[in-house]
Amino acid sequence: METFEHYLDKYAELAIRVGLNVQKDQTVVIMTPISCADFVRKLTKKAYDAGAKDVVIDWDDDEVKALRLKHAPESTLREYPMWRANGLEEMAENGAAFLQIYAPNSDLLKDVDPERVAISSKTAATAREGFLNYMRNNKVSWLMVSYPTAEWSAKVFPDLSEAERIQKLWEQIFKLTRVDKEDPVAAWNQHIKTLTDKQNLLNSKKYKQLHFKAEGTDLYIELAPKHQWVAAGSETENGTFFIPNIPTEEVFTMPAKTGTNGTVRSTLPLSYQGSLIDGFTLTFENGKVVKATAEVGQEVLNKMLDMDEGARYLGEVALVPFDSPISNSGLIYYNTLFDENASCHIALGNSYPFTIEGGTSMSLEELAQNGFNKSLIHVDFMIGSADMDIDGLAEDGTREPLFRKGNWV
Ligand code: ZN
Ligand code: ZN
Repeated sequence: METFEHYLDKYAELAIRVGLNVQKDQTVVIMTPISCADFVRKLTKKAYDAGAKDVVIDWDDDEVKALRLKHAPESTLREYPMWRANGLEEMAENGAAFLQIYAPNSDLLKDVDPERVAISSKTAATAREGFLNYMRNNKVSWLMVSYPTAEWSAKVFPDLSEAERIQKLWEQIFKLTRVDKEDPVAAWNQHIKTLTDKQNLLNSKKYKQLHFKAEGTDLYIELAPKHQWVAAGSETENGTFFIPNIPTEEVFTMPAKTGTNGTVRSTLPLSYQGSLIDGFTLTFENGKVVKATAEVGQEVLNKMLDMDEGARYLGEVALVPFDSPISNSGLIYYNTLFDENASCHIALGNSYPFTIEGGTSMSLEELAQNGFNKSLIHVDFMIGSADMDIDGLAEDGTREPLFRKGNWV
């Protein structure tokens, strides 16, 4: 049995070498909560080992963020320090790589007025749009990984002591990211190949529509006419292959903005900006959510849908078999990075330009003509289950089974 340090080291190495694929003389930016400092130091060392010329850390703290949301005057929530947004954009322009450590605390903001949270997140998303576009268009390499904070591990393992929770969550992370394998890099190469085979198969089919059917779900999603399926990794403009999410199990593409009809039921709780939304059903007409009901978090769901015009339309559809390592772990992670890789999902809000042919060099107008949805949000939520069937429909309406009982046919 190897030591914890051994696996942590491999995890950091996987993030820097495989996920972000840091190049010589590149600047690496790490965006992280302060509670992950020990891991950040390890990542920093690995980044320099990989040839980085500088490592810039953008520290954040959830509790300070929550205090601001509770106590700062409302007018302040409408302001964003532009030097911060501009600084990130400048580094992106100069080809930096961006690593985000994602460790959400889904209970943190449950006492904060959702209206104030909505104002603040809209302000931040608007101010940071220029920077975010570098990532959305894969112009720079970027990566999201997780780290088991005390708060997050308490959510996943409420019955264990704090020390046990964190250890247990680390064990899961090492397993689900294949860090526990003898040779994680080789394991990832094999995994990328499996996902790429599915991607190629779907791209050769050029389906017009997908039909999702399960308990509470009967949904038709029309795909964008030039849609292309994407899996695992992407190439930046200058040809660096990177994997933006570790773990990743999905194959995903772009729905046509106005082509979704029917009803869909969520199958896992959604942690959205410090609040939980659960047991929700959405009804779509010509792409737009016209009805939304939630057993938990109705007000937060409404705020999310009212963020802007595009928040009521889909920006992504992703296929993940029910028989996947994350779903087989039998746990709910309350963390989209893990939960979205356990289940078929769709996302409300912004589409990814790289999920249509030629999308990254299209103007916003051209993108819109090709079914692209623009929004300040991109929120994935889970719809997959053990009883889900999915059909692919060709242009002439003929059907092919893609999923039966939650898994690839
Ligand atoms: Zn996805
Ligand atoms: Zn997504």
